Amino acid sequence: MGYEEMWRDLLPIGRVSGGGHRRFSWTAADRECRAWFAEEAGRRGLTVEEDRNGNLFAWWDVPGERRDAVLTGSHLDSVPDGGAFDGPLGVVSSLAAIDLLRERGVTPVRPLGVAVFAEEEGARFGVACLGSRLLTGAIDPVRARGLRDGDGVTWADAMAADGHDPEALGPDPDLLAGVGCFVELHVEQGRALDVPVGVASAIWPHGRWRFDFTGQGNHAGTTLLRDRHDPMLPFAQTVLAARDAAARHEAVATMGKVHVTPNGVNAIPSIVRAWLDTRAPDDTAVRATVAEIRAAAEKAAGEHGVAVALAEESYTQVVDFHAGLRDRLATTLGGAPVLPTGAGHDAGILSAHVPTAMLFVRNPTGVSHAPEEHAETGDCLTGVEALATALEDLLTS
Ligand SMILES: [Zn+2]
Repeated sequence: MGYEEMWRDLLPIGRVSGGGHRRFSWTAADRECRAWFAEEAGRRGLTVEEDRNGNLFAWWDVPGERRDAVLTGSHLDSVPDGGAFDGPLGVVSSLAAIDLLRERGVTPVRPLGVAVFAEEEGARFGVACLGSRLLTGAIDPVRARGLRDGDGVTWADAMAADGHDPEALGPDPDLLAGVGCFVELHVEQGRALDVPVGVASAIWPHGRWRFDFTGQGNHAGTTLLRDRHDPMLPFAQTVLAARDAAARHEAVATMGKVHVTPNGVNAIPSIVRAWLDTRAPDDTAVRATVAEIRAAAEKAAGEHGVAVALAEESYTQVVDFHAGLRDRLATTLGGAPVLPTGAGHDAGILSAHVPTAMLFVRNPTGVSHAPEEHAETGDCLTGVEALATALEDLLTS
């Protein structure tokens, strides 16, 4: 089973009409993806283990204790109607890289693990990188157990229904202590690469904020314009202000989710609740962007007699990947370009505990988290070669 055969076998799992994928944690599609991974790992003589948090590991061990291991891999879950590459490319490439290492006759002096992290997208339970956060202790297991999906099912119940023990959830310092470094290969999610493979420098700081615009619900026909307190108007001005502020600070800002109360065609809304996602190369730019958007929202709300409140729902500081490992990879790969990303990854979570680096494979359109996400097969095969070369260097010295 080479790269292309593995890709062909994995592709139909969880595929929906329209071409995207729905591979949510602890569903039938997730179970099929995990079974596919266990079979491919078994075919290669790797030892498959599941940790206490639902993360899978396939080990190519060396004699003696599992110490100073090189870890690679990624995730198999998806966003709703997500592309085929985000996550699976890293897992398939890791297995294909092992085949290449064996063809090259490489004899590792330390173990190699391929990880499949659980709930990386947070698509079902709302917290991204949940598996790696649990493993590293970045989230309280009590909170994780109680996270609910859209139907009110908890992470604990969903996990138990799929045959896993939710009582065992929590940090695993012993597992982490055996890992010397982590290298995650991932499809690039913008149009930042003009060669097949690059090395990540950093993950931009990013956060989520919630705006509540509270006005006065009223009749759309009988309420004079001058008598209105319509929260939709300052909301609309805030969306435009977000775009302008982001442009001024070389950030990105997105308002992609909005709840309108009562959401009627012939009613002036009483409340508009909207979420802002902002990311930038550094914390100062993110903070300055959000401050400007907030000021614009407050000014517009005041002009329309509407109250506005802003709450920060999450914030993640900048992640700078391990400089030594990053430079070693870039050099080993013959001077591969080094670039930052605006997307979060398990590698970002692991980087607080072990030297971590990422390889990106070119995305010709830049589309991601959508069915049209794509990478050319030739670039993916170059990615496999690059990963194998990077792993060979790390495994043999
Ligand atoms: Zn991903």
